[in-house]
Amino acid sequence: MARENAVEITRSFNNGCKAVVHPDTDYPVKIGFARVGSPEFSCICADYSYGCICDHIIAVAIAYDWSRDVIFPSDSDWVTSGGSD
Ligand SMILES: [Zn+2]
Repeated sequence: MARENAVEITRSFNNGCKAVVHPDTDYPVKIGFARVGSPEFSCICADYSYGCICDHIIAVAIAYDWSRDVIFPSDSDWVTSGGSD
């Protein structure tokens, strides 16, 4: 299976989505973003149950961005400037 087909967004909202990550999860992985505060997410895999953000949540977050045409950050986006322009 092609890598870009691994995440199937099953339900999309303004501020998040539910998705299945093939072939790992046959249950929905959920992510949601609030205007203020921390994002919410859930998965039921072993990694997540240990308190980690698991691969599935990362994959769904990236797929959700792509589905909304969010441009991938470039290297320059990560550079913080201490000076004036
Ligand atoms: Zn997971």
